Amino acid sequence: MRISIVGGGYVGLVSAACFAELGHIVEVVEIDEKKVLLINSGKPPIYEKGLEDLLARNVGKRLVATPLYDGVAESDLSFICVGTPPLPDGNADLSVVSSAAGSIGESLRRRGGRHVVVVKSTVPPGTTEQLVVPMVMKSSGREPDEVGFVMNPEFLREGVAIEDFMKPDRIVIGATDGWAGDLVESVYEKLNAPVVRTGLAAAEMIKYASNALLATKISFSNEVGNICKKIGVDVYEVMRGVGMDHRISPHFLDAGAGFGGSCFPKDVAALARLAEELGEDPVLLRSVMEVNRRQPLKMVDLLEGKIGNLAGKRIAVLGLAFKKDTDDVREARSVPLILELKRRGAKVAAYDPLAVPAMEKIVPEVEYCKSAKDALRMADGCLVITEWDEFKNLDEEFDHMKSRVVIEGRRVLSCGGGEGICW
Ligand code: NAD
Repeated sequence: MRISIVGGGYVGLVSAACFAELGHIVEVVEIDEKKVLLINSGKPPIYEKGLEDLLARNVGKRLVATPLYDGVAESDLSFICVGTPPLPDGNADLSVVSSAAGSIGESLRRRGGRHVVVVKSTVPPGTTEQLVVPMVMKSSGREPDEVGFVMNPEFLREGVAIEDFMKPDRIVIGATDGWAGDLVESVYEKLNAPVVRTGLAAAEMIKYASNALLATKISFSNEVGNICKKIGVDVYEVMRGVGMDHRISPHFLDAGAGFGGSCFPKDVAALARLAEELGEDPVLLRSVMEVNRRQPLKMVDLLEGKIGNLAGKRIAVLGLAFKKDTDDVREARSVPLILELKRRGAKVAAYDPLAVPAMEKIVPEVEYCKSAKDALRMADGCLVITEWDEFKNLDEEFDHMKSRVVIEGRRVLSCGGGEGICW
């Protein structure tokens, strides 16, 4: 199959590389020309485990990147994988989805034959039908029976994105036309994964509901963890017992500093906003976000409780990425944590194995260090906010601090030296 992937970010590039690995001919349409050059030279513009190997095997053979939409008309399907960031009111910003749909349509105008436009970006229910379909049909001038539309949400997790793409729990295919849904299903055939066929809006809602439920599990565990800490009970022991119930599952029950990343925060906010617009009061979703907002601030309070006023104190922050094995700092809990430390007058010395360049762009006035040991040197306190494997065995590095005051936002240290935010 010939596939166009519009947007070469985390979702687009991983999908493109995996589709190429499955034997499809893939063209990535990416407006950022620097990313195009990197992809075509086999270098992923983002860090994702295994991606460089996939590019090495497929670039120049079955995978190519371009800033132009010209090739879309030659392909059988185009997947829209552009960003849908949050607007200030919580709604998803659909302007890039809309312009991508318009550009796909313009390309389709040049050539006849059937084509399927697939929305993979996370979009609010109704978007494919009310925005993407009219945009493509208007700019392509094609007959309705020539262009099919499918909503195929992506569930990959950064850090293990390739594994998630290749071994999905399910593939959701929302379609109004059977032939278009069948074509998308055939693209994934080799994965042998369960397929859920739905309408367009249901597929869009499945993605929001999934992310909102996972975020709810995290905030729930954090709230239980906060209670456990007060009564001296280990929340990890509690959640191990809770998670063994097959109705609950052990996943997403790790209490800590809260969730970040490019998906959960914005998707929960967008679902809550949608509820409000429909006259529903999203009590639960608002609480999920509020618990998440408070967790990193709790770490700062804990630290202040131990070492007093933070003004002028050197605080080591270990970890910046929103989770391990990625350089993504979007909505990372390290951001509000560092801003709060700085607001209270602390001098922040931060270290992350991958995410320093990304973080420097967001919070420049921080001392970024080359190692955990450098950040810890003469520090008055330390906050661990990402569960990187290389932090697991830190121990004597903490001896370089003025005093060994360590608060963990993720349970990662094995030396037993840290007090946890919820344990
Ligand atoms: P991203 O910001 O990493 O990538 C988007 C890419 O699209 C960028 O490289 C950007 O330069 C490019 N782009 C912007 N406008 C374009 C245009 N008009 N034409 C072509 N390319 C254009 O975003 P992402 O993290 O890959 O997320 C994409 C979508 O997938 C979002 O809706 C997100 O919610 C969803 N999603 C993300 C993840 C994740 O883990 N990152 C997981 C599942 C779903």
